Amino acid sequence: MRFQVEPRALTSISRTKADRISVLPAPTMPTDTTDLLTVPEPDVIRDWATERGILILAHSYQDGFLQEAAHFVGDSLELARKAAEAQAKAICFCGVHFMAETAKLLCPEAEVFVPDLDAGCSLADSCKAEDLVQYQKHLTQKLGQRPVTIAYVNCSAAVKAACDIICTSGNAREVVESVPAEQPILFVPDRHLGGWLQETLGREMLLWNGACEVHELFSVETLLAMKAEHPQALVLSHPECPKAVRDVSDYVLGTAGMLRLVKEHAGQTFLIGTEANLIYRFEKEAPQNTYLPAPGASCACNLCPYMALNTPEKLWASLHARGPVVEVEEVYVEPARRALQRMLDLN
Ligand code: SF4
Repeated sequence: MRFQVEPRALTSISRTKADRISVLPAPTMPTDTTDLLTVPEPDVIRDWATERGILILAHSYQDGFLQEAAHFVGDSLELARKAAEAQAKAICFCGVHFMAETAKLLCPEAEVFVPDLDAGCSLADSCKAEDLVQYQKHLTQKLGQRPVTIAYVNCSAAVKAACDIICTSGNAREVVESVPAEQPILFVPDRHLGGWLQETLGREMLLWNGACEVHELFSVETLLAMKAEHPQALVLSHPECPKAVRDVSDYVLGTAGMLRLVKEHAGQTFLIGTEANLIYRFEKEAPQNTYLPAPGASCACNLCPYMALNTPEKLWASLHARGPVVEVEEVYVEPARRALQRMLDLN
């Protein structure tokens, strides 16, 4: 279901009423009959949602407007925790579909809805639950034991249900280390994050062949050229980046780790190898540094096209409609929640 923002409020207004409205002072707080074409300022949206018991969560890869409108901005792990702790009756999730599913799993009593139901994720799409289950059967036969399956949180609820434990980029090392050394591990769906874990932990794993189309497109050549131009700059890259990019980086960190690091510096230039909207958060929370997006501001390939489907207009419409709603098929709820809970219990 997609929202169409209809100009009905404008066309149905009578001339006399329109004239009368034009001389009234602008309302500070919109009502439920507000024209959906007029999107208020982010703080007005947030207050409007608060009054109606709606918690707005936004991922750090959302654009600045959505980050400002949210009650809480964070990475996947922070948002999962926030959803689990939330007593909210309703959550509007500005992120992609698997994140809203995660919120629903951890906060089952809440209505969970999103600005755009089509906001998916190429990485999540690269691992289908039925293919995973087949592969697990194949590996169990081949190895004589079922491997422990660790799923990066960027996957569907159906995939989470087929896994033993979930991880995020922020806690993936701890999750891998929690599996006894003698047990084989199948890591899904991101082969780059899995490869980075293998390198840094020295632990062999079977890797699913998935990748994020945004992180895979960073150009090493451009990054090296930027490094030559800014020799004092530190390169931060996300573990979803390919090895060639990670190898020319000073730090490989998840988004929360990057935020912690930039806050510890002052007057430093950073080249940022992850979704470029994260820079909005850096500039807000650590404005003392300079941030340059890799591979370059003119290249749109460092913006997630799925996150970009969520717009201020769709957020505003979604809050009014309390939809489109995200549900998780009953059969996946308990096993997926168990796998998530194992991760939350570890930290
Ligand atoms: S940046 Fe990549 S992993 Fe993150 S939501 Fe977009 S496609 Fe998925």
